Amino acid sequence: MPAFLDLLRDRLSSLLPSELKPNELRHLLSPRRHPLLLCQRRATLIVNRVRLFAFLFAVLTPLWSLIDLMVFEPRLWAALAGFRMMACLAFTCLLLFYRPSGNLLDAYRAIAILFAIPTIFYIASHTLLGSYQLAQFSAVVGAGYAFLPFVLMAGLTIFPLTLVESLVLASLLLLAQALAGYLSWATLNWPSFAGAFWLLILIAGVASLAGMSQLAFMFALVRQAIRDPLTGVFSRGSGEEILRLQWDSAQRKNGALALAFIDLDHFKTINDNHGHEAGDQVLREAARRLVAALRASDSLLRWGGEEFLLIMPDTDMQQARQALERIVGQGLGQRPDGAALTASIGLAERCCDQVADYRDLLELADKRMYCAKTGGRNRLCAVEPEALEQATFVLGA
Ligand code: GH3
Ligand code: MG
Ligand code: MG
Repeated sequence: MPAFLDLLRDRLSSLLPSELKPNELRHLLSPRRHPLLLCQRRATLIVNRVRLFAFLFAVLTPLWSLIDLMVFEPRLWAALAGFRMMACLAFTCLLLFYRPSGNLLDAYRAIAILFAIPTIFYIASHTLLGSYQLAQFSAVVGAGYAFLPFVLMAGLTIFPLTLVESLVLASLLLLAQALAGYLSWATLNWPSFAGAFWLLILIAGVASLAGMSQLAFMFALVRQAIRDPLTGVFSRGSGEEILRLQWDSAQRKNGALALAFIDLDHFKTINDNHGHEAGDQVLREAARRLVAALRASDSLLRWGGEEFLLIMPDTDMQQARQALERIVGQGLGQRPDGAALTASIGLAERCCDQVADYRDLLELADKRMYCAKTGGRNRLCAVEPEALEQATFVLGA
């Protein structure tokens, strides 16, 4: 029986998106605890897609008036054309005034506006058309108006969304459809309304799956783009972005933000004496050990060859020093000759050092790392070089 369950689990897990690692699958369900850079990239992508569709709708919505003109009587045409012009104006405003900010709440608002405009248009036009007796071609075009909710629901597929987000948006669209049915209660054809509602629910299910598979794909792409291939920690470019975002967030709440510059000691001799491959192996192991010792909110990035930056949000100088002593105390691995690998560390903190910019924080941590080097290596330096005497701590002693 357990063998059968194992087999079943294997088979089922092979069906899951292969772009994701098992511990990343929960990211498909809800946006809580998404990595910072994924949130930022996703918010930008969503707003850009919203703007693309706002552009398409702004052009197509008024153009359709030409078809209305051919089939509807002038009074109905004029009223619909008025609705269309208002929708076109709203889409144009969305296109002109909405720019990606990297903030997920802004992205949600953009999707909500993009969907609200045609939904209001749909309810208004549906109610209006319900009061006219249409025949032949005008009935065909009039029936076309009833397809709008399906187009909107299918439109959800263009966004990389989590299950929860898709369900919330789909529920809002279903609610709007129910409202349109309620408003035309007197003339409602019940069986066809219920059939259409059921079809909308099915499309919502497919759209949620499509949104999640887009998200899985995006997740894998972002992971590849922001990680250093050798060590798997953040690369310099993405790391600098994380530092900037964390800095902005710390500044907003006037909170602590510690930054440690970690440079491995005498690394060149490893390459010189044992070859580059051995050096790579030591680098990978050092990064692995550092990552294993970090808190979930900390970020480690590879700044250069054998230099790492550790970003510690909500961590004051004292806490950062304790954390680093603990991390380095656990060891960074061994050199190929069996000796312990050591590092020189410069530590700076936003509040304690009163720096004005994240670049200044970085510069200060870098300067202190050099102090730790000149002070004899295998140590942590956390204050100005002038006060060096009391401020360097021999690590791993
Ligand atoms: P110090 O204690 O002063 O920091 O000495 P060091 O030898 O660690 O510093 P130095 O800056 O002189 O040398 C860094 C070396 O790191 C030089 C380079 O060959 C090596 N290195 C940089 N990137 C890589 C890499 O990706 N793989 C390997 N194997 N070595 C690297
Ligand atoms: Mg170096
Ligand atoms: Mg070095």
